[in-house]
Amino acid sequence: MYTPNHERRTNEPGQTNGPENERVPKRAASSAPPTDARTKPAATNLGEIAGRLERGSGLLVGVDFDGTLAPIAPDPDDPHITPANAVALARLAASVDTVVAVVSGREIADLRPRAEVAGAVYAGNHGLELARGPDSVIHPAARRYRPALDHAVDLVGQTLGDVPGCLIEDKTLSLTVHYRQVPPALQRGVVERIDALAPRLDDGLCLVSGRKSVEIRPDIDWDKGQALQWLRTTLPDGYRAVYLGDDTTDEDVFRTLRAGDVGVHVGRRDTAARYRLRYQRGVAPFLDWLGRRVTTGV
Ligand SMILES: [Mg+2]
Repeated sequence: MYTPNHERRTNEPGQTNGPENERVPKRAASSAPPTDARTKPAATNLGEIAGRLERGSGLLVGVDFDGTLAPIAPDPDDPHITPANAVALARLAASVDTVVAVVSGREIADLRPRAEVAGAVYAGNHGLELARGPDSVIHPAARRYRPALDHAVDLVGQTLGDVPGCLIEDKTLSLTVHYRQVPPALQRGVVERIDALAPRLDDGLCLVSGRKSVEIRPDIDWDKGQALQWLRTTLPDGYRAVYLGDDTTDEDVFRTLRAGDVGVHVGRRDTAARYRLRYQRGVAPFLDWLGRRVTTGV
């Protein structure tokens, strides 16, 4: 059973803050990742990472999609898993006592054909939906918001439909406005227009910022971190977790990791992760190393 705790909150506008027109997600405002000088390069600390994992009874490998398994692209319809990441993840997914979970803000129907990892668990809409093989579950509270999202789709279309390059993506359980392809001079205006819409959204929806995107979603107390922890409850005791991600929403996972787990932030931001890969192209060698270690013990 999929029985997370949840609560409804009101639809307050997000805060405007920080570089690149990115706003602080209101749910994360009080728990922003610390500036952490302890974050270490993953590639030069593989021995330490191996030491953390060797006492586990199995391994849960969680990976974000955009910016982690696939490079960020101007058009959100373009990204697919890189061939090297596909090979490395397939090896991990086929290994005994190893579970791979692809975790994304995309909806699973959109995510699965882009990742195509046989045997993987998929967590879409930041964990509001989970699928393993043909079986899938949706957060019980999330379905109720579809009428509110229909209203939001209409409002956003009326407000931003004339902005060149602005893409409005209906993800069934949430809605994302992508402004990466909007001319730079107009991008802040897009964010301001979405902020101005917030009071007109139905109760129970909230705004969450992403990389050149803003999501309108149910304000349910449920995120990637809680989804991964829930997944762990379905696994045998003693599994260690490795999680890689580049986005602010991945910080929710890093904050839930335990001693013996391994969090790897992909990028150069401040992060709660213990390790870092500065560039997306570093993900494949890391996953390849992890897969070889799992299968051969080397
Ligand atoms: Mg990402």
